[in-house]
Amino acid sequence: MSHDPNCIFCKIVAGQIPSKKVYEDEELLVFHDIHPWAPVHVLLIPKLHIASMVDLQPEHAALMGRMTVLVPQLMKQLGVTNGFRTVVNTGSDGGQEVFHLHMHAMGGPRPWAKG
Ligand code: ADP
Repeated sequence: MSHDPNCIFCKIVAGQIPSKKVYEDEELLVFHDIHPWAPVHVLLIPKLHIASMVDLQPEHAALMGRMTVLVPQLMKQLGVTNGFRTVVNTGSDGGQEVFHLHMHAMGGPRPWAKG
């Protein structure tokens, strides 16, 4: 499924739910987390609806590579100069609540509220 009409992040991709966008291209969207755990907390998502990491296929390798390479560029752009944390929660035991694959990228002076 390329788009799930019941998925909150697909609705953000479609512009049906507002978001504070940081970056967008034909394949990826990045926006600020609505409940940040850190001074800077963004979510990187594929526009394609991939529910979680367990649904990744070999053809998604380049997409995930692009997402990863984007993180340090965006952290720098957002003023994060002293390191950052990336997290991908997968499945219910992994703490995933939104089932549209996303990478948390968090930075800024510690301590943070969570983690
Ligand atoms: P967890 O909530 O345990 O971190 P996930 O890894 O699934 O689970 O993360 C989902 C993230 O999506 C949460 O950090 C949450 O604050 C964020 N979120 C949910 N709805 C929105 C939204 N409309 N805009 C921005 N971020 C959102």
